[in-house]
Amino acid sequence: MAEAKILIWYRNDLRLHDHEPLDQALKQVQTAGSQLVPFYCFDPRQFGQTSFGFSKTGAFRAQFLLESLADLRRSLQAINSDLIVRQGSPEAVIPALAQQLGITAVYYYREVTSEETTVEMALRQALQSIGVECVSFWGHTLLHPDDLPFEVGKLPELFTHFRKQVEQPFTVRPARRSPTHLPALPDIEAGTLLTLADLGLEPPALDDRAVLVFQGGETAGLARVNHYLWQKDCLKTYKETRNGMLGADYSSKFSPWLSLGCLSPRYLYEQVQQYEAERVRNDSTYWLIFELLWRDYFRFICTKHGDRLFRRSGLQGIEIAWKEDWQRFDRWREGTTGFPLVDANMRELAATGFMSNRGRQNVASFLTKNLGIDWRMGAEWVESLLIDYDVCSNWGNWNYTAGVGNDARGFRFFNILKQSKDYDPRGLYVKHWLPALSQVPASKVHEPWKLLPVEQQRFGIRLGVDYPNPVVDLFQSAAANEKVYNAALSAK
Ligand SMILES: Cc1cc2nc3c(=O)[nH]c(=O)nc-3n(C[C@H](O)[C@H](O)[C@H](O)COP(=O)(O)OP(=O)(O)OC[C@H]3O[C@@H](n4cnc5c(N)ncnc54)[C@H](O)[C@@H]3O)c2cc1C
Repeated sequence: MAEAKILIWYRNDLRLHDHEPLDQALKQVQTAGSQLVPFYCFDPRQFGQTSFGFSKTGAFRAQFLLESLADLRRSLQAINSDLIVRQGSPEAVIPALAQQLGITAVYYYREVTSEETTVEMALRQALQSIGVECVSFWGHTLLHPDDLPFEVGKLPELFTHFRKQVEQPFTVRPARRSPTHLPALPDIEAGTLLTLADLGLEPPALDDRAVLVFQGGETAGLARVNHYLWQKDCLKTYKETRNGMLGADYSSKFSPWLSLGCLSPRYLYEQVQQYEAERVRNDSTYWLIFELLWRDYFRFICTKHGDRLFRRSGLQGIEIAWKEDWQRFDRWREGTTGFPLVDANMRELAATGFMSNRGRQNVASFLTKNLGIDWRMGAEWVESLLIDYDVCSNWGNWNYTAGVGNDARGFRFFNILKQSKDYDPRGLYVKHWLPALSQVPASKVHEPWKLLPVEQQRFGIRLGVDYPNPVVDLFQSAAANEKVYNAALSAK
């Protein structure tokens, strides 16, 4: 076998376990003189601004990323290697490094959305021109596209159809084991990891009301799985608890580690299988896999539809007359709409970088169906803040909630009041994030605008001073936006 020098380009796959590019490269570098170079590139474009002017990667996610890179570096050092780090455009930096080190091939996990694939194409061309092989792998999903019962281009548009078809039969490839030893690196400067200050970001303040302190990295991700499944045995009741909003363990909180690839979904699948064999198999254990299929579905939808996901008219191409009302948008993002469920969730997001799935659905519905504001402003705002931001899951879910995605049911909006009473019946969640409401009884806390002056005095709250009056009437605003939506639908 000829001498191989392979560079592993790490992107959103910051782990050792179940890493196909690493595993395949390792098979190629067995001969003497062969080398393997794990590499990460800080791309300044990822730290620029979104189209509406928000930080593309806010401080919460940036910190999680830096922790994940430090963890990966430590893990690589422990097996005789290191993480080489540089800053710049990968399509310029990698070919230059390849020439400097005599690299013969670059291996990486490919992405599916435009910013990432543009970089990949440019890199491929640059490497081709200097005779370096470029090998990409499919990762990130539980299911491999080659194992689907249809071509990705013929993916069913509705999740239920997708799920039913992929479940029979359900083929998940085995997770690959972590390597225990890597070949030594060439003589090269490892490069220092950037800091938040280098990225122009302030360290996020720790808020002790947060559901969890999310520590970046594969080590912490694996520990979270161990905690949720094996130590706390939470999986057996996941289906019943997953819609909660308070506390660390109502849902898995695996999303930040999955998004940055610190955890592989196939590893999770095997853990669930083991849990089913050793502890219990029930609706809850199935449900975690069901949720991972939502994640897969959005990634495959992005692969199928490309840039349509980011258009104002969304996947369905519905030209809705969205508003760009910054005054109301500010009330939404600052958590001052006067609707406690929306406000508590938006304040949680701003203070911690996380929000439950229930919360995300409600705030997205409120922005689009009650305020009639351009859904892309919402998608970009949470892109900036979320620790677990994933381009396909975020933009796919926003398409869906805004009614421009593959949801066939037309104008559907979340009745915030019903949702509040169903999912926060004792008002504990809203009181957790909105101290002004702390003394208001549960029966009244979700509709503070109904408090009489005497009640306001009794509960220590002045409406319009300590807590805002509602920005809109819930049902009138939904009815008005439904008309706008239906007009756009009939004009399609
Ligand atoms: C408007 C909106 C934006 C969202 N943006 C993101 C995002 O940027 N990144 C992200 O990972 N998820 C996103 N989600 C999906 C979901 O809210 C989060 O995955 C979930 O809240 C993360 O918490 P968890 O890990 O405890 O989830 P769990 O309930 O424990 O679910 C387990 C895993 O399944 C996956 N999952 C669950 N629900 C969904 C879903 N609806 N779509 C895709 N995957 C799902 C996630 O990987 C999650 O970690 C969004 C949902 C909405 C409604």
